Amino acid sequence: MVGNMKLDVQAFTGDRRGQDDPRVWIGLDIGGTKIAAAKADAEGIIQQLVRERTRKATPEELLGQIVSVVEQLLAPADELVSVGIGLPGQVDPEAGHTFSPYNLGWPNVVQIRKPLQERFGVPVFIDNDLNTAIIAELTQGVGRTNKNFCYVTVGTGVAAGLVFDGKLFRGAHHLAGELGHVVVDPTARDCVCGAKGCLEALVSGPAIARSYNEVVGMESGVATAEKVFSAARQGDAAALAVVRDTAKYLAIGINNLAALVDPEVVTIGGGVSDAGDILFSHLEEALKRWLSGVVDKRVEIRPATYGSKTGVIGSLMLAYANHLQAV
Ligand SMILES: [Zn+2]
Repeated sequence: MVGNMKLDVQAFTGDRRGQDDPRVWIGLDIGGTKIAAAKADAEGIIQQLVRERTRKATPEELLGQIVSVVEQLLAPADELVSVGIGLPGQVDPEAGHTFSPYNLGWPNVVQIRKPLQERFGVPVFIDNDLNTAIIAELTQGVGRTNKNFCYVTVGTGVAAGLVFDGKLFRGAHHLAGELGHVVVDPTARDCVCGAKGCLEALVSGPAIARSYNEVVGMESGVATAEKVFSAARQGDAAALAVVRDTAKYLAIGINNLAALVDPEVVTIGGGVSDAGDILFSHLEEALKRWLSGVVDKRVEIRPATYGSKTGVIGSLMLAYANHLQAV
C-alpha cells in the first residue's frame, strides 16, 4: 500500500468479489520527463506506484515502455480490468490517439489505445494528462466540495484545467486551458509555440533551469528546476531571484485565469509544484502584488490535493470510471 492511499471508487467497481478480489486497475501518467504508474484494487487502495524516466525517442519506444511498466506492476494472481493513460499534448480520447505533442517531440498522429488494447486484452482509455489530473481533483479532491475550480499544472509543460458547474470544459478542439501559452511578458524569451513571453516559456521546469543558467553561466549551471529550488533553499541569491521571478509570472498567469473564469479554488500541481514551500511562499507574496482588483479575493490558491501524484490518480480514475461502459 502506498501511504495508505485509498480512492473512493465504490461507484465504479460494482459488486465486491470477497476478500481476495483479484481485480486491479492500472493508471499511467506519461510526462515529458517522467512516467508515474500505479496499480489499485477493487477497494481503491493503491498497492504500488513506480516512477521512471520517459523513454520517448519514438512512439514505439514509449509504447514498449508502457507495456513493460504495466507488466512490472502486475502480479501473477492479478486480474487486470482496464488501463488509464494520461499523455502530454493534444489527445483525442474518442479516437484513442495523440497528435502533435510538443513535449514528446513526435510528428502527427500516433495511435496509442489500439496497440495497447490488443496487447493487454482489456479496455485502455487515454486522455490529455491535464484532463486526467482534473479527473483526480474532480472525483477525489477539490471537486468534492467545489463546483467551479481550475487546476494549473506546472511541469515540463504548463496548462490549466477548467471545471465549470462540476464539469470539465474541453473546448471545441480539446484545447481549452492552454494557460502555458498565455503571454505574461511580451519582452521575454521565445516560446516553443512561436510566440514570445508565454507563461510556459518562463515558469516550466526547463524554463526555470534555463533562467538560472542564464544568470550564473552554463559552467556553474544546473540541469533541472529541482536543483534551482534546492539552491534557493540554501540561500543562493541567483536561485532565489529566479524563484521570485517564477512566482511573479505564475501569479500573473493565475490572475489572468481567475479574471477570465472566476473560480472558487485554483490548485497548482505538476513537477514544479513539488518544490513546496519555497515556491508557494514566494507565490503567496507575488499574488498580493499581482492579483488584480477585479479578481474576487475569495479565490483560494493552493497546492494540488495529491501533489505530483495527481496525474497518476487521475489516470487510475480514468480506468475505473470508464471500464463499465466499455464492457
Ligand atoms: Zn507559447
